[in-house]
Amino acid sequence: MAITPGRAGEAADYALCLDEARLPLNARLGQPLRLIWTGAIACTHCGRATKKSFAQGHCYPCFKRLASCDTCIMKPETCHYFAGTCREPEWAERHCFQPHVVYLANSSGLKVGITRRTQVPTRWLDQGAIQALPILEVDTRQQSGFVEMLFKEEVSDRTNWRAMLKGEVEPMDLAQERDRLLARLEGGLANLRERFGADAIRELNDTPIGLDYPVLEFPRKIVSHNFDKAAEVAGTLMGVKGQYLILDTGVINLRKFTGYEVELG
Ligand SMILES: [Zn+2]
Repeated sequence: MAITPGRAGEAADYALCLDEARLPLNARLGQPLRLIWTGAIACTHCGRATKKSFAQGHCYPCFKRLASCDTCIMKPETCHYFAGTCREPEWAERHCFQPHVVYLANSSGLKVGITRRTQVPTRWLDQGAIQALPILEVDTRQQSGFVEMLFKEEVSDRTNWRAMLKGEVEPMDLAQERDRLLARLEGGLANLRERFGADAIRELNDTPIGLDYPVLEFPRKIVSHNFDKAAEVAGTLMGVKGQYLILDTGVINLRKFTGYEVELG
C-alpha cells in the first residue's frame, strides 16, 4: 500500500499497489471492496515464488541473506558492522550510516521511535500516528538505537494497534513531553555524548505535526481478516489508517501480506 502525506488539514492519500495497477482508496470509501488472494506469494526482493513469507514479503534465502532482514535492523543497538560481520556492508553504509531521528509520536498514546531522516513523515503514517515530533538527530542507526533504549526507560516504543484502529487516541502536547523527557534523561544523554562525541546527539527544535487519515467510521470492535485463513476479504471500505484497511466486516494489516498476489474481486 502506498501512502502520500495529505496537505495541511487533509487526510493522507492511500493507494493499493496491485501487480499492474494502483487502486486509489480514498475515493472508494463507503464502497464495497473485495480482495482475493490467489495463493501465490512472490519475494519482494528477488521475485521468486515462496510458499511462506518471511520478514514481510521475503523468501527464505533473502530473509537469511539481506542485511535489511537482520535482527540488528529491529534492534539497532546490536549493530555488528564494526565486528566485520555485517551481511551487506555497502548496503549498511547507505542505510545505517545516515542521519537518523529519534521522534515522539502519538499513535495510541505516547511512543518513542527512530527512523531515517528521509523516511519522515511516511514512517508515522505507517504507524497510524495522529501527531509526531522529531526530537533528536544522530549520525548513525546504531546511535539512534542507544538513544531509543534510553527513552524506553520512560516511554513505550509500541503501538496498541487496536486502540489506534478504534480511534481512541487523545491529542497530547508533544513539545511538553519532549521537554519533560529531555530533562528527565539528561544524565543518560550526557553518557551517550561522552561515548559518541559531544555533537553526536543533537537536539532538534521542530514543531509537532498532525496527521490525518481517510476514515468514515472507526470500528467499535476489532475483528481481523487474514489471507492465510480465508483467501477472500470483502466488505464496505470504512477507512484506512496506518497499514490497515478498515472494512465493516473487519480490519486487515496489509503490511503483513506484502508480496501476496491479490486480485480485485
Ligand atoms: Zn527472495
